[in-house]
Amino acid sequence: MAFYKDNFEKLKKECEINNITLVAVSKIRTEADIIQAYNCGQRDFGENYVQELVAKAESLPKDIRWHFIGHLQTNKVKYIAPFIHLVHGIDNEKLLSELNKQAAKLDKKINCLLQLHIAEEETKFGFSAEEVIALDFSRYPFLNICGLMGMATFTDDKTQIQKEFLVLSELYKTLQKKHTAFTILSMGMSGDYDLAIREGSNMIRVGSLLFGERK
Ligand SMILES: *Cc1c(COP(=O)(O)O)cnc(C)c1O
Repeated sequence: MAFYKDNFEKLKKECEINNITLVAVSKIRTEADIIQAYNCGQRDFGENYVQELVAKAESLPKDIRWHFIGHLQTNKVKYIAPFIHLVHGIDNEKLLSELNKQAAKLDKKINCLLQLHIAEEETKFGFSAEEVIALDFSRYPFLNICGLMGMATFTDDKTQIQKEFLVLSELYKTLQKKHTAFTILSMGMSGDYDLAIREGSNMIRVGSLLFGERK
């Protein structure tokens, strides 16, 4: 495990220039790795597993903004609701209801993004464009539904990736006209963040470029 400071500084600068939020994806990384990034000024970190996230949030500095970027199970929402900064992967209405319920219990609003299914793979999660357009946001008064998230197909075909990001970006722009809270378009990872930025992403989720390949 490692932290690639040079990659980080370069990416950080690029993000600052373009007004993009860099989420450092720290799943399966050690707390020591996270602290290295933290000491370089990084505050937004993304995690995929609830148990791991809860443990890290307890022991790491309190000014870290934790992003949940994995596939969230309804029965685990309650564990992250008290402290989560942004939930990226909301992909069904049951999850919206549960998140709204937990937020109501805490008497606060929780920020979340709707995950769109843009990839070819059936295994990836997400709403369809039609579902998101038809969604009644007023049913979730304790949620701040503030944008979209998506993952492109795992492929070397840049044209295809770009096409998928474009679909997401167009939908984001359409929804912005209806929802004033829509300010975040979360797309792009280590392998495709440059394409994502070109298509209008303003939040990228980068792991292996900063911390090395995951085993
Ligand atoms: C793991 C993960 C990332 C980071 O992937 P890298 O290729 O390591 O940058 C980004 N987004 C999601 C949803 C992930 O699960």
